[in-house]
Amino acid sequence: MKKIAILGSTGSIGTQTLEVIRNYNEEFQVTALSAGSNLTLLEQQIREFRPALVAVWKEENAVTLKRMIADLQVEVLFGMEGLLAVAAQAESDILVTAIVGMIGIKPTIAAIKAGKDIALANKETLVTAGHIIIPLAKQHQVQILPVDSEHSAIFQCLNGEDRKEIDKILLTASGGPFRGRDRAYLSQVTVKDALKHPNWSMGRKITIDSATMVNKGLEVIEAKWLFDVDFDSIEVVVQPQSVIHSMVQFADGAVMAQLGTPDMKLPIQYALFYPRRKPLPGKRLDFTTLGSITFERPDMQVFQGLSMAYQAGREGGSLPTVLNAANEYAVAAFLEEKIAFLDIYRILEECIHAHTKIENPDVGEILETEQWTYEYIESRWRFEHSR
Ligand code: NAD
Ligand code: MG
Repeated sequence: MKKIAILGSTGSIGTQTLEVIRNYNEEFQVTALSAGSNLTLLEQQIREFRPALVAVWKEENAVTLKRMIADLQVEVLFGMEGLLAVAAQAESDILVTAIVGMIGIKPTIAAIKAGKDIALANKETLVTAGHIIIPLAKQHQVQILPVDSEHSAIFQCLNGEDRKEIDKILLTASGGPFRGRDRAYLSQVTVKDALKHPNWSMGRKITIDSATMVNKGLEVIEAKWLFDVDFDSIEVVVQPQSVIHSMVQFADGAVMAQLGTPDMKLPIQYALFYPRRKPLPGKRLDFTTLGSITFERPDMQVFQGLSMAYQAGREGGSLPTVLNAANEYAVAAFLEEKIAFLDIYRILEECIHAHTKIENPDVGEILETEQWTYEYIESRWRFEHSR
């Protein structure tokens, strides 16, 4: 029986992870859960899956939760200490990082040091600290199993292949809700418009990142770390139907692709059972009704987030952290309707421009860079959001 700890159990990836586990409850045991503030759902999850340890972010929520589950024998922790305890919990075999944002860095490192395999959904960790996470995982001989659908697709395409024979990675993108639009259009869009993803149902932050295409940019950097390829060997291809989840072209010109209906349970389940495949209920692709799969080049002039991510990734050091932190802050402010859609790009651009790069930052320097970025934004823009 595989023992699983989850960071971010009440979110989009977290709840779908628990769905997979529910379908295979004789194969898995949930040993620890952690979540932000949705205590009602967390309580239900605790009653159903009976973890020994639970963590929430705020102390007051920990107090409330303890009262809600007073009849159960569950340890309840809070803050970073709680996240670290869940991540490195002695009983677990694998940690699912379904938490959103750079807050995932320290717990992921703690889990690797404790010898846990990582089912990695939290891309922000790899984007900002890939140069630490990947060597550390090698050193501790733990597996990093991608949960992001594109990276899972690439991982599946690489089954049985020699990674030295990769010619390039073709990272597919839906293009988001504003594909084909120009900047004049983007200057008018609302939060509601941006939250309408054409194919995927996901958490709010990543849905906005899909609309700006910063998500694809973060995924380019994520791919660089996961598959050890340089940025010139990662090409983004817009494939609006989200049928092809990504492709790999090899030295001999052969292209392998992974296709399927857009369902995150597939990459989640693949990571949890790797290298086995198990039945997964749900819709199947029907090529006769699908008709066509189309391709486009991404418009990096309009969707500047993608070009900025390539730039930050290529320059490396602390720049991906600046990109990511500025994006986390800007997206939160956009969601609170404090800034306009295109201000997200303006904020990213200003922060990248103003930053003095640190080569090879350690975790402390990454977190200081995050802080610098937030303070820089607050000093330059007249808004504040509750971070
Ligand atoms: P979400 O917002 O739906 O869920 C985030 C989870 O993290 C929630 O359970 C929330 O309570 C928890 N959380 C947030 N802040 C916390 C804190 N301070 N302490 C403890 N818990 C906290 O997000 P999501 O869409 O599930 O995405 C999670 C991660 O997976 C992100 O990094 C995202 O980029 C990545 N991802 C998501 C999808 C998807 O389909 N949703 C696909 C690929 C990658
Ligand atoms: Mg993705």
